[in-house]
Amino acid sequence: MDPYSESNNNSHQDFNSLTTVASGSSSSPVAASTPSRYENQKRRDWNTFCQYLKNHHPPLLLSQCSGENVLEFLYYLDQFGKTKVHTLICPFYGHPNPPAPCPCPLRQAWGSLDALIGRLRAAYEENGGVPEVNPFGARAVKLYLREIRDLQSKARGISYEKKKRKRLAPQHEDDN
Ligand SMILES: [Zn+2]
Repeated sequence: MDPYSESNNNSHQDFNSLTTVASGSSSSPVAASTPSRYENQKRRDWNTFCQYLKNHHPPLLLSQCSGENVLEFLYYLDQFGKTKVHTLICPFYGHPNPPAPCPCPLRQAWGSLDALIGRLRAAYEENGGVPEVNPFGARAVKLYLREIRDLQSKARGISYEKKKRKRLAPQHEDDN
């Protein structure tokens, strides 16, 4: 079972490509099918999460679910990740295209997790969840995603801000 595998080993664009299509920056014929692809993916994500709750020890009800449980779910998904995230001691740390293999762990790419959380957050409310206590919108989850983004962007030598920066502030490379 590999529900969140990415089709391309070293790409962080798998899910982002959906966003690109939706924002109309590329005139792709896929655009017309995007909403249903999104809905299908959202339904699959939601089923996977509900299954995860069911198999949880002790079992968890959706109504008991907290941001901490969402984080546990994200840690759990990392075992299915296919994105190489170099450790600080790896000679390829910060290299977007390493010339050789290395033993660094494979993780879920930040872009995948970010998109996943967005879909689950919507699905939670569509399935009767109360927006005020939506665990996918919890502060801990936002902080975790931000941390992962910074960590992976440094480890992989990739700036996740590029697209946004083009629109907002092209002159700034880094505002940290
Ligand atoms: Zn490495």
